[in-house]
Amino acid sequence: MEKLLNRLIKENEYLVQYGKVADYIPALKNANPNEIGICIMDVEGNLYSGGDYNKKFTIQSISKVLSLMLAVMDKGEEGVFKKVDMEPTDESFNSLYKLDLPYGEKPSNPMINSGAIVTTSLIDGRGEEKFNRFLEIVRKITQDDNIIYNKEVYISEKETGDKNRAIAHILKNKKLIEEDIEDILDAYFKQCSIEVDCIDLAKIGIFFANGCKIPNTGEALCDEEIGTLVTAIMTTCGMYDFSGEYAAKVGIPSKSGVSGGILGIVPGRFGIGVYGPALDKHGNSIVGYGILKGLSKELGLSIFKSNTEGRFSCVI
Ligand code: GLN
Repeated sequence: MEKLLNRLIKENEYLVQYGKVADYIPALKNANPNEIGICIMDVEGNLYSGGDYNKKFTIQSISKVLSLMLAVMDKGEEGVFKKVDMEPTDESFNSLYKLDLPYGEKPSNPMINSGAIVTTSLIDGRGEEKFNRFLEIVRKITQDDNIIYNKEVYISEKETGDKNRAIAHILKNKKLIEEDIEDILDAYFKQCSIEVDCIDLAKIGIFFANGCKIPNTGEALCDEEIGTLVTAIMTTCGMYDFSGEYAAKVGIPSKSGVSGGILGIVPGRFGIGVYGPALDKHGNSIVGYGILKGLSKELGLSIFKSNTEGRFSCVI
C-alpha cells in the first residue's frame, strides 16, 4: 500500500505547476507547494502513509464537517436545517450573492462559508466556550491532546476576513445567526486555524467511515445517523462548485480546505487525509484531487461502483 501511495504522489506532483497557493489569508501564502502527503487509516486502525504525511497545516474548511456534526448534536437536525439548506450550489466557497437574492432565504449548504458560520453559531456555548468544545472534539477523535490552533493564521484571517464579516452581517440581518458577530467569527476563524497533519485527517475520516466511533477505542461519540448525514452532504457539496465532477471522477465523499488538505471518507472502509497546498480555481488541492482520483481507480473506492467487494452483500 505504501508503495502505491508514494507512486501516486510521484505521478501527480507535476500538477503543482497548474495550481496556486492561497494568499487571500496572508499567513497561508508561504506554504511550500512541493510538500505533498497522504495517509490512510482502515477500520482496524492500520495506518499507511506516504510523502509529507506528518507536515502540519491548518484544517481550514475541513473543519466545516465537524461544526456541522456538533451543531446537529447540539440543536438537532431540524434546528440546524431551518437555518441552512443542504443543496449543492454553483457558488464559490466564500460567496454571498445568493444570500442577498430576494428568494435566497438561507445559505445553500453547510460546506460553504455562509453555511459554516451558521453551524458554528449553533454549537453550544458562548464566546470562547464554542471553540473550546470544538477543539475538545478534534482532540478526542484524533486521540491527541497536543492539537492546537495556529495563532498566526488565526490573527491573519481575523484581520483580513472582511468577506466573512460581510456574510455574517447578512446572516444576522436575516436572523439566521443571533449572537455577537465577532464572537461567532472568532470561533469560526479559530476552528479553521486548528493544525492537523494527514494522519489526523485520516483519523477524522475513519471516525465517520466507522459510524462516528473514536478510532482505536471504539467509543461512539454520537448517533451514527449524524455521520451518514455529514458524509452525504460532503458527497454533494464538499468540493464546492466542483462537487459534481469530483463525485463522477473520484466518488469518495470528501471535504477540502484552502490550505491544501482534503479529507476523504470511504464508508465502512477507510479514512483518508491528503495534503498539497497548490489549489485549483475552485480552491481545492490540485495534487490532492489527482492523487485521490488515482487512488479511487486503483483500489476501486468510488461509493458509486456496483461491484465493490462486500459493499452490497446482504443477508436475504
Ligand atoms: N478560513 C477560510 C475562509 O473562511 C476557509 C475557507 C476554505 O478553506 N475554503 O475563507
